[in-house]
Amino acid sequence: MKEYKNYIGGKWVDSVTGRKFEDRNPANWDEVIGIFPKSNAEDVEKAVEAAKKAYKYWKKVPVPKRGEIVRKAAELLLERKEEIARLMTREMGKILKETRGDVQEGIDTAFYAFGESRRLFGWNAPSELPDKYALTMRQPMGVWGIITPWNFPIAIPSWKIFPAILAGNTVVFKPATDTPACAAELVKILEEAGVPEGVVNIVFGSGSEVGMALLEHPDIVGISFTGSSDVGRKIAEIAGRGLKKISLELGGKNGQIVMDDADLELALEGVIWGAFGTTGQRCTATSRLIIHEAVYDKFLEMVVERAKQIKIGNGLDETVEMGPLINEAQREKVKMYVEIGKNEDKARLILGGDVPKGEEYEKGWFFQPTIFDNVNPSMRIAQEEIFGPVLSVFKVKSFEEAIEVLNSTNYGLSSSIYTRDLNKAMKAIEEIEAGIVYVNAPTIGAECHLPFGGIKNTGNGHREGGWTVYEIFTEWKTIYIDFSGKLQKAQIDTWEE
Ligand code: NAD
Repeated sequence: MKEYKNYIGGKWVDSVTGRKFEDRNPANWDEVIGIFPKSNAEDVEKAVEAAKKAYKYWKKVPVPKRGEIVRKAAELLLERKEEIARLMTREMGKILKETRGDVQEGIDTAFYAFGESRRLFGWNAPSELPDKYALTMRQPMGVWGIITPWNFPIAIPSWKIFPAILAGNTVVFKPATDTPACAAELVKILEEAGVPEGVVNIVFGSGSEVGMALLEHPDIVGISFTGSSDVGRKIAEIAGRGLKKISLELGGKNGQIVMDDADLELALEGVIWGAFGTTGQRCTATSRLIIHEAVYDKFLEMVVERAKQIKIGNGLDETVEMGPLINEAQREKVKMYVEIGKNEDKARLILGGDVPKGEEYEKGWFFQPTIFDNVNPSMRIAQEEIFGPVLSVFKVKSFEEAIEVLNSTNYGLSSSIYTRDLNKAMKAIEEIEAGIVYVNAPTIGAECHLPFGGIKNTGNGHREGGWTVYEIFTEWKTIYIDFSGKLQKAQIDTWEE
């Protein structure tokens, strides 16, 4: 069995605590993937020291040179794509098709960062005074704390680490305790690609110890966090006290609208993929299905029939469509929401709601595809993020009501509408309250070169992905160059011919 270490200042080192934790396969809990150090604030201290030291050098490396290292990492990820995808399926359960996609997103993000290394543009603007230039440039900030969840073990750390280091920052990375092995592979690739010592450091351990130590550390300039809204709120409070820059990508409760004129076959594939892909454990998962009354009965029957056929099992089997939930606590949470749903006024459990029966499911955290109909927006199953294969279905009378139901949540990440009416599609794009809108496509499927993030309780206004992530990891510097040879006072001196 593999024993892993922290990576600090270019060396793989034990935690000062000597404590360990196990990483197990959620589809077969007898399989231990690896043993990891359960680190504490002292380990974080060492990692921050190393990152601070490295920053002095790294910020001076020309951006295109940093880009070359990132490109090398992209190539190594590409070479090792299949191996890492298989490890990811064993480590967190999603099916191979999806874990390959997860690694691909890391590859795409790294290549995009490489391209950005020849841009990272500043702006300039005309000055209000003669013989004076006004321009701007982006600068790195220092040491960033990177805290990530387990559901995209390569993609999410890649969204953060590649742009952070490309921009000239150094990082201390704390991955989720459910997916430390994938995180370690990513760091090994960065090491092999030639990232200098101290630029990327990884410290394994819990949110309450390692995570908190990052939030409270005075030498950390920013925290880039993806995870639940509850933890995000805590992070904003604690790291906010230190006036750190804080980027939060949080939960979702995403809706798919199916209008009376929709292509129902297409909408069916969309909702099955959106609701049950990654066992419903995506921030962009479709957890609310909003159907126009004219096609309600027909479409709901189609969804239930198709969902019944979903093959559940170990994601390494290419014929399996849905793997297990991540861990016992998550399965208990899903079970709890099924009970809540059953007891909510008028909601009806029409599919699933339980652990699948059979020997092959006995050692994994499996759960059936689950559907509630007759749901209304005030119910808890309509409002709270369940993070499992549970779909709540709503019947609406009109386009306006569909939009109202879709918007009636505290989250605002992704959304979708299926319609053949261009006017309705355009109106939906205007009126939906979410960071991402899909037309005739499911709520999942973001592309790495476009901004990603949400409104309301889904975040605090930042967008990862594409060019916008560089707004997070850089600071603007404004430069005025006066070549008039005299004192010119902005707002006081006026230009005269
Ligand atoms: P989580 O919030 O429980 O944990 C996320 C990370 O935060 C983990 O590394 C955890 O150890 C750490 N953490 C926990 N408490 C902490 C604390 N007090 N201080 C510092 N760090 C702490 O989330 P999770 O269960 O790993 O992931 C699922 C959640 O992530 C869902 O809510 C999902 O919607 C969200 N998510 C959002 C996006 C997005 O881009 N918006 C993407 C994926 C997942």
